[in-house]
Amino acid sequence: MSDKRKVDKCAFCGRTSDQVEMLLQGGGSSICVDCALRVSEYVHSIFGDELFDEYRGAESGKSASCETLNVTPKQITAFLDQYVIGQDDAKKSLAVAVYNHYKRIGEAFSRRKAEAGKKKSGAQKVLDAEKSALEALEIEKSNILLVGPTGTGKTLLARTIARMLNVPFAIVDATVLTEAGYVGEDVESILSRLLQAADYDVDRAERGIVFIDEIDKIARKSDNPSITRDVSGEGVQQAMLKLLEGSIVNVPPAGGRKHPEQKMIPVNTTNILFICGGAFEGIEKRIAQRLNTRVVGYGAQEKKSHIDMDNLLRYIAPQDLRSYGLIPEIVGRLPIVTYLNPLDRDALRRILTEPKNALVRQYVHLFELDGVKLTIEDSVLDLIVDTALKYKLGARGLRSICEAVMMDSMYDLPGSGRKTFKVTLEYAKERIDRFAGTLS
Ligand code: ADP
Repeated sequence: MSDKRKVDKCAFCGRTSDQVEMLLQGGGSSICVDCALRVSEYVHSIFGDELFDEYRGAESGKSASCETLNVTPKQITAFLDQYVIGQDDAKKSLAVAVYNHYKRIGEAFSRRKAEAGKKKSGAQKVLDAEKSALEALEIEKSNILLVGPTGTGKTLLARTIARMLNVPFAIVDATVLTEAGYVGEDVESILSRLLQAADYDVDRAERGIVFIDEIDKIARKSDNPSITRDVSGEGVQQAMLKLLEGSIVNVPPAGGRKHPEQKMIPVNTTNILFICGGAFEGIEKRIAQRLNTRVVGYGAQEKKSHIDMDNLLRYIAPQDLRSYGLIPEIVGRLPIVTYLNPLDRDALRRILTEPKNALVRQYVHLFELDGVKLTIEDSVLDLIVDTALKYKLGARGLRSICEAVMMDSMYDLPGSGRKTFKVTLEYAKERIDRFAGTLS
């Protein structure tokens, strides 16, 4: 046995190669088979089968965005159901749009491949393949707009779709974008982030998904277009158009303009799917006006029975977006518009326990790793939801309330030798009261 083998040890448990059955080596360190299995079980328990399937897909160089989108819209919504509670209409529109988008890319891809396979001269082959691909691309791209209150799952939906398809994903906030030449980020920085997410694999980035959040914040402020320059509004919308409609954009690899000497990378945005999100606060009034009815409160008796006045967002249409201040060209480039519902008590309660990576599941697992069986009384979960509702903290707030409840036990239990821990209503209430004290 060589000396080297003796010094080799598992980076996790520290045992040397002669103490374990097998030591796997890679990236300058080693892991024993026992620890590898434990890590694998741990990852599996958190992310479930999908991650493994994705991983296998990625390993074999396959990505759903390529020539093989072998999932149906129904399977897409079924996947989303595992992570996102409710929002059924948004899930359905998103699933259909994403399915069609990648089908369109898939068709172009196969045409290209078929053309390239024919016996022709090299140059002719390339020309015909491109021509054929372009013909296929004439099916219009369908970028998507998700309208709904903040914290209701818009980003989560987009992120989950990207994860399912195993495509690069970038999130940008429209409010940091400005027209070229002004302080802030150029719209090209959106693509820099996508490139980073794709590890600078331009091909992969060109089939990725970009989520542009808070698009409502770059709405035109005044109804009278272009009397003055509207740095944060119309100008940015104009700049964004070229990305949404599909063109070749020169992208600074590191984003920003701090390195003028850096080489630009041309990125074709034709097949990038843009999902935009925004709360569009107050847009209900415009929808109501269009529907020629009035918002609840006044003349409730006039309420048209077939119109759901409590949820006017479901009737959102392109003209409402225009009247809100999106320029017609942008509205035209976001042909799929769908909405998200505010999260009610029932939805918040389900968010705590049902998603695959639900907060409660995460705590149970964290405790399990310390050999402690954690149980939480149902009444505690109700109290957490009530607190989120009372202080209008939404789904995002659930996490901070849970942290407030669990912090002491996460500090005290490791090393204490305890095997079980039950969070009772009394225990939780004391901590939630303390937490609520910091809010008001
Ligand atoms: P936004 O609509 O502002 O983009 P997010 O998707 O970022 O909201 O939601 C914030 C967080 O709240 C998510 O990371 C998730 O933990 C939780 N959440 C929000 N909506 C849902 C939902 N419908 N189902 C499950 N979790 C949700």
